Amino acid sequence: VKVLDGKVALVTGGSRGIGAAVALRLAQDGADVALTHRGSAGPAEEVVARITATGRKGWAVRADSADPEEVRGAVAAVVERFGRLDVLVNNAGVGAVGPVEAVALDRIDQVLAVNVRAPYLYAQAAVEHMAEGGRIVSIGSCLAQRVPFPGSALYATSKAALTGLTKGMARELGPRGITVNLVHPGPTDTDMNPGDGESADFQRGFTALGRYGTAAEVADAVSYLVGESARYVTGAELAVDGGFAA
Ligand code: NDP
Repeated sequence: VKVLDGKVALVTGGSRGIGAAVALRLAQDGADVALTHRGSAGPAEEVVARITATGRKGWAVRADSADPEEVRGAVAAVVERFGRLDVLVNNAGVGAVGPVEAVALDRIDQVLAVNVRAPYLYAQAAVEHMAEGGRIVSIGSCLAQRVPFPGSALYATSKAALTGLTKGMARELGPRGITVNLVHPGPTDTDMNPGDGESADFQRGFTALGRYGTAAEVADAVSYLVGESARYVTGAELAVDGGFAA
């Protein structure tokens, strides 16, 4: 018997990177897993194939997190297909780099829509369907806790907002037995932040461990938080950042 046997999970942005690793890990833990993407249908179907290979059901849904109707539609479609929803992982996100005065208004709106409004809307739609034992985990960033270099104010703003979401929803959903937590990855080797990228050595220098993390290492933390072992953990922030914020 696996810890998530009989449960259904929804992972946003599950076609690549951290979200793909989380989706696969939750399937290995026993859940049927739906994942969203913004257009990477091919990679999303590859993740679904890997989920299916574990013996669990997988399903990919194209839904742009920036569009509230698509967000609500994705949750409704998952519940219709799987009949329930137990775990939501708010992972989809976009990076943003640039000096404060150079960030355009539409960029601010876009980053906040995907990184902040969408997690709120996903949680809002998901809790309608969650029973006792439900789990919400969002993926923040080490830059929500420490911003040791310039050019990250917008991104840090968007990720720090998830602290309010997490604590406020934890407080409200606690009486229903639903936990809400936040994972802050450090520099993690993905398409968004390749370990061999231009600024990779620079970022490595801010970690205590002197290296990038892997998507699987972030997935380990999510697996813990959505599992039975974390039943008394809610409103918490867990840094999986190699000591970036230490
Ligand atoms: P990637 O860019 O590698 O993957 C992003 C994923 O999110 C893809 O599946 C992408 O779908 C999806 N996505 C992006 N925008 C949207 C959207 N508008 N609607 C739906 N899906 C969307 O990112 P990472 O795996 O690196 O990052 C995952 C999360 O972790 C993000 O929230 C990021 O901010 C956070 N993070 C990452 C760090 C890192 O160093 N990598 C560090 C700290 C936090 P598609 O394939 O269709 O584009």
